[in-house]
Amino acid sequence: MTDTAKPAYRVLARKYRPETFSELIGQDALVRTLGNALSLGRLAHAFVLTGVRGIGKTSTARLLARGLNCIGPDGNGDATLEPCGACEPCRSITQGRNVDVLEIDAASHTGVDDAREIIEGVGYRPVSARYKIYIIDEVHMMSKSAFNALLKTLEEPPDAVKFIFATTEIRKVPVTILSRCQRYDLRRVPAAMLASHLWMICQRESIEADKDALAAIARAAEGSVRDALSLLDQAAAMTADKLTNDMVAAMLGRPGRRESQTLLTAALAGDATTALAAFAAAYSRGAEPEMLVSDLLDLIHLASMQAAGGSDEAVIESEREMITSLASSGIARLGRAWQLMLKGHGELGQAPNPAAACEMLIIRLAHAAQMPTPGELMQKLPTASTPAAITTAGASVAPQPKNPSAAATISQTTAGNFDQTPAKASTATNPAAVPIVPQMVEPSTSKTPPAPDSLVDIVALAETNGEMLLAARIRNHVQLVSLKPCNLQISLVGSAPDQLAGDIARYLSQWTGQRWLVSLAESGGEKTLAEQQRDANEKLRDTIASEPLVAQILEIFPGAIIDEVKASQAADPDILAGYDGALDTEQDTDDEEISK
Ligand SMILES: [Zn+2]
Repeated sequence: MTDTAKPAYRVLARKYRPETFSELIGQDALVRTLGNALSLGRLAHAFVLTGVRGIGKTSTARLLARGLNCIGPDGNGDATLEPCGACEPCRSITQGRNVDVLEIDAASHTGVDDAREIIEGVGYRPVSARYKIYIIDEVHMMSKSAFNALLKTLEEPPDAVKFIFATTEIRKVPVTILSRCQRYDLRRVPAAMLASHLWMICQRESIEADKDALAAIARAAEGSVRDALSLLDQAAAMTADKLTNDMVAAMLGRPGRRESQTLLTAALAGDATTALAAFAAAYSRGAEPEMLVSDLLDLIHLASMQAAGGSDEAVIESEREMITSLASSGIARLGRAWQLMLKGHGELGQAPNPAAACEMLIIRLAHAAQMPTPGELMQKLPTASTPAAITTAGASVAPQPKNPSAAATISQTTAGNFDQTPAKASTATNPAAVPIVPQMVEPSTSKTPPAPDSLVDIVALAETNGEMLLAARIRNHVQLVSLKPCNLQISLVGSAPDQLAGDIARYLSQWTGQRWLVSLAESGGEKTLAEQQRDANEKLRDTIASEPLVAQILEIFPGAIIDEVKASQAADPDILAGYDGALDTEQDTDDEEISK
């Protein structure tokens, strides 16, 4: 990047390397702690600096080395957080020629020999400086034996020796080492802070740039000052004119923030056409679908944080208005968009055509936006005397009582998934009489129950006595021909086991204390209880679907079907009429499934 007509170009990252701790941006906490340790004379023999790459660990290490060895312009200064930069130690350390400050990159010196070299050197006094300082970069890369050698030194370090370790992966550093270090965590620099840092540099370097463009660079750098400065270098090299958001977007392969915003705003409003057009524009300018989705995720996150009243440290000033406008969509809608986009982000990598996958994702997002949130649904529903609690797939929109209540479970799948919990008994004296009137039965009481006078009573008796398999078999395979006291005549259908009539007789005798006779008729009789329930259920679903409340829900959730209807003793009897028959529908019940 040198130009013959100009003095040698120095890359920004090097030129703007912090010379003092006050120039170290975004690390206030570290500087404060370090300052305290220094002023209290509580400096450890070893320091470990950790944080993601490009965040300033090495710069901090060198600053610290200077601070520890600075003697001030007059040569009488003490160790300080504000190295003078003028004394001999300061200058030689900055220039990398101070014999007492050794920088070692553990990534390339991992052997035990290097560690031994260090230990041998540790024995000698510093040549000229106050301290002999070892800066070991990427310390987690050292071999186990090198760590062991180092550990011995750390256990009894000579007074005039300091170690400064830097690492991106603190977890890989043995705890025996860590326990002998003062640890300092360098944090990612917030995008807003990075952007204003870039702005300051642009002014000093006479680089003309839009604030939006700098914000885009700051975001892309993900908290790394070095990355941000390298990107600014690249962008500045691309043009002699003003740096714009579009240019930076093209350089980064990212959509412009405005495009992302247009896309997201449109999608959240259910406007797929505008959203897709914004995607097409960004894509034609070279934005990668994956980048676009992560940019959308970033916007959704910032807007959600704003909507939730969380920290807005990450929001760049020029974007505040936009984020606020997105936040007005509300947490529920943003949360749903987040889930959708996150899932889509994961799928993008597997799609043969990421652009197409991204378009599908946008369409899905716009479609989902048209669905009301659970909160809105509550507001749409009539509030007074709602007899039914409605649950939708994944989102409960009404309090769900513990006791069975008149509840229409509406599922957005088409699979009929019927509850197989034991039914409360109901009387069905006349099989043609649908709806069936519910009857209260006290379950599991020890007193002798009255003699059954219907098949439903017999099933209830079986269930009360815990014979679920028998109850299921009666419900599915038994057609009632006649029922008199102690005399039951039935016919069997389906795959009824041979001994079923005998079983019924035996159990009835046992439960009622009277001798029962159960005889088999060749054919004839009422429909089985299961069939009756199916019929009743059909009818009930039609009735329920025409209830204004339910009709409204079906309209709000396109594609929803009534999956199951549960009866409630507490509900309005008029609405209850006909519910009970559907309470326990067991389509195609497999006997074996019921057995306990
Ligand atoms: Zn100095």
